[in-house]
Amino acid sequence: MADIQYRLEQVRRVSGEFPGPKSVELAERRKAVVAGGVASSVPVYVADADGGVIVDVDGNSFIDLGSGIAVTSVGASDPAVVGAVQEQVEHFTHTCFMVTPYEGYIAVAEELAKLTPGDHEKRSVLFNSGAEAVENAVKVARLATGRDAIVAFDHAYHGRTNLTMALTAKAMPYKTNFGPFAPEIYRVPMSYPYREESDIKGEEAAQRAITMIEKQIGADSVAALLIEPIQGEGGFIVPAEGFLPTLAAWAKDKGIVFIADEVQSGFCRTGAWFASQHEGVVPDIITMAKGIAGGLPLSAITGRADLLDAVHPGGLGGTYGGNPVACAAALAAIGSMREHDLNARAQHIEHLVKRRLEALITDLGDGGIVGDLRGRGAMLAVELVRPGTARTTKEPNPEATKAIAAACLEAGVIILTCGTYGNVVRLLPPLVISDELLEDGLDVLVGAIRAHA
Ligand SMILES: *Cc1c(COP(=O)(O)O)cnc(C)c1O
Repeated sequence: MADIQYRLEQVRRVSGEFPGPKSVELAERRKAVVAGGVASSVPVYVADADGGVIVDVDGNSFIDLGSGIAVTSVGASDPAVVGAVQEQVEHFTHTCFMVTPYEGYIAVAEELAKLTPGDHEKRSVLFNSGAEAVENAVKVARLATGRDAIVAFDHAYHGRTNLTMALTAKAMPYKTNFGPFAPEIYRVPMSYPYREESDIKGEEAAQRAITMIEKQIGADSVAALLIEPIQGEGGFIVPAEGFLPTLAAWAKDKGIVFIADEVQSGFCRTGAWFASQHEGVVPDIITMAKGIAGGLPLSAITGRADLLDAVHPGGLGGTYGGNPVACAAALAAIGSMREHDLNARAQHIEHLVKRRLEALITDLGDGGIVGDLRGRGAMLAVELVRPGTARTTKEPNPEATKAIAAACLEAGVIILTCGTYGNVVRLLPPLVISDELLEDGLDVLVGAIRAHA
């Protein structure tokens, strides 16, 4: 990118053994002390990261197409974020906003009021993780409506805490043997255009969910509808046009709080500040985390003032929520998003990636393994199926997905997978990645898909 100065050379460079000797040594130390339940998708250990590259302890330079799961949109060492953090830690690292408050928290809330959809009066609360934001959005919705039921969707991912496990759809690895789960959570069908039985429209898919809610729960019992406008871990599923607006309008009519979980899709990732904006949806509450603070742990909920102010003083908070260093980082990261127009940049990335992958799909024809190419901005994915089933039975191909991600990694490209069926390769590059580096990463990905097709 013309206006971005990189500290590290933006190149793909892998040599020698993989993983290298220093990474192997760290893996051994890790095995002795880190719990086995924490898995890492990449076997190398990081020494440095900047722009579109991650450099490991053995000096290999990888192209980062994962951004630490959609977090480092402004890069992993954006000078503006680094400077703001340094400035803040020299003064105070923590006082607790619930004890002795500070300006940074208020300034972040002011930004969130400006950036989130809708020009109604808004209030915000800051937390540490995405799961915590979702939990608190549910707390607010239940208190404000006096109702219990929360409706979530097929393929949803909302976190790993007890309540958010219940809200998450996928058993393995997120829920299996971790129960019992929180009650009053209901699940209804998502709009998943690639896997619909028929050519169902977004409005019809919404009506299918609404009918199920009305018949099985009753609208009057529902506190909130919780949905990712573009699903993340579930497979980067973009619902059919009309699905989200129909649900939001119905929720409004029934006094149900419409919560958009934009933890992954927020902050320029999809080419807009929030994915809800692509269809003009104005959520009652929006949850945010991941991309918000250039890598520092911060999350937030922003919503209608009448909902958030319904909660009694002291009902919301947490020791670290809205930590001053994280707030300083968020203000700087948001500044970088504006300065470099990262929404336009995400749209440009969509154009580059889709052009390459559409050409590949045409080339492979119906016998290929790419079933679907989807996503918005720099939140893009290919869904892989068994050869020849792309237009027929659409049989998931998790083996090829794994093999492709592994081949990319050995060639120096970090690529993540996701999906209910484990058959989706997802692309989440830092939005500040250069065109040259992205094209090089795509060469590797396209080559790996071809080799497995
Ligand atoms: C990652 C994610 C969460 C959970 O965020 P954590 O910070 O890992 O707790 C919740 N919702 C969505 C949509 C996510 O992608």
